[in-house]
Amino acid sequence: MSVDLSSMLELLAGGGGVDAALERLAGDGDPRLAQVASLMRQQRAQADSQLALEAGGGDDDALARDLHRAQADLEAAQGELQAALGELDALRLRNRRLAYALGACECFGERPDCEVCAGEGGSGAYRINTRLFRTLVAPALEQVRGPGGPKVPEKEEKP
Ligand SMILES: [Zn+2]
Repeated sequence: MSVDLSSMLELLAGGGGVDAALERLAGDGDPRLAQVASLMRQQRAQADSQLALEAGGGDDDALARDLHRAQADLEAAQGELQAALGELDALRLRNRRLAYALGACECFGERPDCEVCAGEGGSGAYRINTRLFRTLVAPALEQVRGPGGPKVPEKEEKP
């Protein structure tokens, strides 16, 4: 499963959907995302309980200020979440391109619970994508081989 950015943004833009968005983020299977979702939940819970505490003995103006501040905090958190999701999307795309260039699963064989490779999808496990290999790997390979070393063929040679 992976986070669908556009549906996340729809949830957030719809208002009141932050819980659903965090739920989806936490359920993505990526432990880092689960951590981000957990931190954001904690921040929201703290803001809520702070608000409840102050509401008990405060006047209406103080309550309105707190509510306004909590809303601003929430909007800032939503902005941060959207930025993080945008960055995550870009990183996923880069990871996918590199994995395909190396003939690896997108998890690089690091996740025994991977639905695609069950942890067996390291570099070279699958047929490499030659176009991506030439773009992403060949320049590094040619640097390792040194000047005058064999070049990676421009086009795939037919047998
Ligand atoms: Zn995998």
